[in-house]
Formats: sequence, structure tokens, C-alpha cells
Amino acid sequence: MDQGSPKGIKFSSGEEIPVELHKVRIVQKLHLKPIDDRLNAIKKGGFNTFLLNTADIFLDMLTDSGTNAMSDNQLASMHQADDAYAGSQSFYRMEAAIQEVFGKELVLPVHQGRAAENVISKTFIKAGDVIPMNYHFTTTKAHMEINGGEIAEIFTDEALKIKSHHPFKGNIDIQKLKDLIAKYGRQNVPFIRMEASTNLIGGQPFSIENMREVRKVADEHGIMMVLDASLIGENAWFIKQREAEFATSSIKEILRTMCGICEIVYFSSRKVSSTRGGGICTNDHDLYMKMRDLVPLYEGFLTYGGMSVREIEAMAVGLIETTDETVISQSPGFIDYTVKELDKLGIPVITPAGALGAHVDAMQFLPHVPQKEYPAGALAAALFIVSGCRGMERGTVSSVRLENGEDLLADMELLRLAFPRRVFTLSQTKFLIDRLHWLYKNRELVGGLKFVDEPKVLRFFMGRLDAVSDWPEKLVAKFKADFGDSL
Ligand SMILES: *Cc1c(COP(=O)(O)O)cnc(C)c1O
Repeated sequence: MDQGSPKGIKFSSGEEIPVELHKVRIVQKLHLKPIDDRLNAIKKGGFNTFLLNTADIFLDMLTDSGTNAMSDNQLASMHQADDAYAGSQSFYRMEAAIQEVFGKELVLPVHQGRAAENVISKTFIKAGDVIPMNYHFTTTKAHMEINGGEIAEIFTDEALKIKSHHPFKGNIDIQKLKDLIAKYGRQNVPFIRMEASTNLIGGQPFSIENMREVRKVADEHGIMMVLDASLIGENAWFIKQREAEFATSSIKEILRTMCGICEIVYFSSRKVSSTRGGGICTNDHDLYMKMRDLVPLYEGFLTYGGMSVREIEAMAVGLIETTDETVISQSPGFIDYTVKELDKLGIPVITPAGALGAHVDAMQFLPHVPQKEYPAGALAAALFIVSGCRGMERGTVSSVRLENGEDLLADMELLRLAFPRRVFTLSQTKFLIDRLHWLYKNRELVGGLKFVDEPKVLRFFMGRLDAVSDWPEKLVAKFKADFGDSL
């Protein structure tokens, strides 16, 4: 029995269904193209889902970043945007929303999450520093390293287990934290970073109990805590479901409690408020002053931070809506439904279900594809061919090549299927599950990939690959034999 999965609505059959608690008022046409067209599209895109055109995609599950549905109130708010270089009323509305939702008075606007990481890293990290955290995010690590810091991931033993019932796989291991500070010395630990709904290990939350334990250690050494709140809404939701102390708390109280434990909170609004943009906030005037001057230098004046005033208005409304359970539970509800259905079908998937997406374990799905032939990349390509659904490879393609010419093999080979907030319907979700199931039954037909054009930096974005054999054609032939038509 999974602890605290989002509650669907009970049908008379006994089944719990994550019924949509919103209605659709603006729609966008999708394209479910014939399988031959999809095969051509993935070939043209070098078997890399980043290089597909959305005109060829049915369900775009690449990411939840900047792809969430906005509410009617968010769209309406954009019309009152106040264009001003300095002192825009839009900014003051966003500032008030941040104060209300996160409980932090001093606000710095930035153009997106990684820009907050640039400002924080430049301000607080010096060469030789080590930054303890539950897990890194790609842009976090890059900014810390560019400033001479090194990240230290001190997750618990549960974190990387595919099958688990642990409610808080995003927790920090307290003993590892103590050992790390003892080893490097307080002067080399500028802050401890906690990432809500830890993105790269499957959107897994931490508990407030764990935050408090981290706080205790931080206080013993006089170290500050920084919260990456990009996925904080879902983490708060999981806390309400899974941490007894907060079962009757409002989401707003939980958000305030989480933020109250940390000196600095930053976020990507591409996720948390379903818009674009980002921000940093704190109640500590000294910390604010240390960071403040970098904002006009890298982002823009202090009342827009590189964002359009329209986005700022929508952010303000979106942040307030993050305190609404019916808003933040929708995406975790669909993910939970998907993960449970896939699990029932025997398809290897990360459990318990987390935030932002379902994560399929490609190493178990395709045990016959060696890791140096990129099983997660192959699975992403195969799923696109058989369904038009686009996921993201999170495995060795996203890793690097070592100086000796070998791949640095990733810890896990995952196919991530993101659920942008309030974008897809249940029948679309069922379509995805059905095609994944068909693919699982025919998995021996899927082969590996090889690079044909490999960029030196961040190769997963623009790299081009090819199938190691004619397996894509064989897969298409079997699909046509089974489905009779070509969709
Ligand atoms: C997306 C994300 C970021 C970076 O935000 P951008 O807006 O994409 O720059 C940082 N941290 C986490 C946890 C994220 O999910």
C-alpha cells in the first residue's frame, strides 16, 4: 500500500479516478500522425526527441517547464500589466504574492530559475567550496561549478531505488551531512541546498521533519539553508498526504513552514506558477543586499528582472493558485494513476509516484540493450514511433564522454514522461499507458542507438544518433500487423 497517494474520486466500481477539477476553455489542436510519418520524423530528428517538431508530436511529455496550462485568472491578469522600466505596479503585485505565499519580504526578480542560481552562486560560492544537497539539478550544478564550487549529494539509501514505498525519497541523510561538514570544515560550506520534489531522481519529496533535522545541524555550525522551490507545490501536497503532523494543515501553512526553515528561497516560475520567469526571496536584509547588485547587471532593473510585465502579473496569480489543493494535486494525481497502472502491467517504473512525471526504468524494460547503446534513448525513440508521445531520455545520452573515449555510464537509464500541469486528459493518459504496454510486450524488437554526430558539450540537446540495426522498421511492421490501421 503506497502511503499518501493523491486521492482520486471514487467511482461506484471502487476505482479511484483523478477526475479533472477544471474545465477546458482554450484548446490547441494535436497531431496524431500515421506511424510511417512518425518513423520518418524520428529519423530526421536523429533519434533524439529534442530534435522533433511539435507538428509531428501527439502528446508532448518532454518537460513540465514552461508548458503548463494557465488559468483564466492568470490570462485575465496579463491585461492589467503595467509597462514601466522602474516601479511597475505589476512587480509590486508579484512581490505581495511572494510575501503571502512564501512568507519572505525581500524579493529579487530574475528571468528564470537558473538565473537565480547564477546570482546565488556568484554571491556565496568561492573556489574550493562544497555545497551539500539532496540531489543536484543540471543548471544548479553548472552554476556552482563555474564559480569553483563542488556539489555533494547526500541523499539517503532509498533515493536511487527504483521500487520503493518510502514516502520521502528526497530527504537528506543527516549523518552524511554531519560527516561532510566535519571533513570540509564550516568555512568551506557556504550553504546547504534542499530541492523540493527532487527533480532528477523522479520528482521525490522531502519531509518537514527532515528539513528540521537539517536546520539543527545547520544551526550548530552557523550555516544557512537555501531552498530550491521550483517544484514546491507538489512537495507541499505530498507532505500533507504523507506526514501525519500536517494532515490537517492548509497548503499555505505547509508552504510557509517549508520556506520559514530556510534563509533563502528561489524558484523557476516555468514550473511553480505555470508561467515563465523566476525569483529569489529572503527575510535577511544582509543577504538581500549581497545579492541585489547582480540583478540589474545580469537580469534587468529590480522591478522586472528580465521578465515581461505580463508574465509577472500571471506569476503573481499563479503563485497564489499554488496554495489551492485542486490546482496542485492535478498533475501528481495523473502521475500516480499512470505509475500504478504501469506497475500493475509489470512495466518497470519508479515508485512511489512523484511530481512532474512518470519515470520508466529503461534498463529493466530493455535488458537486452547494453548501456553503451543507450537504452533510455532507444526507449524514448521507440515510444515516439509507436505512439507519437514524446518523452525525455535521462540516462547515458545525457551523460558525457570521458577522455579515453568511453561513455561515463549514468546511474540510471530513465525515460521521463512529464505531465505538464493540467494539460492532458485521462483518455490521453490511457492512450499513453496502452501504447507503452504494447511496446513492453514487443520489447525484444527494440534495439540500441549509436551517435553519428556528437557535440562536445551537452550532447543530449543537439546530438544525432541512429539505430544500430533495422529494428525501427521491424517495430513498425509489427505495429501495423497488430493494429490494422496506422495510428
Ligand atoms: C527547472 C529547474 C531549475 C531551473 O529553472 P529554469 O527556469 O529552467 O532556468 C532549477 N531547479 C529545479 C529543481 C528545476 O526543476
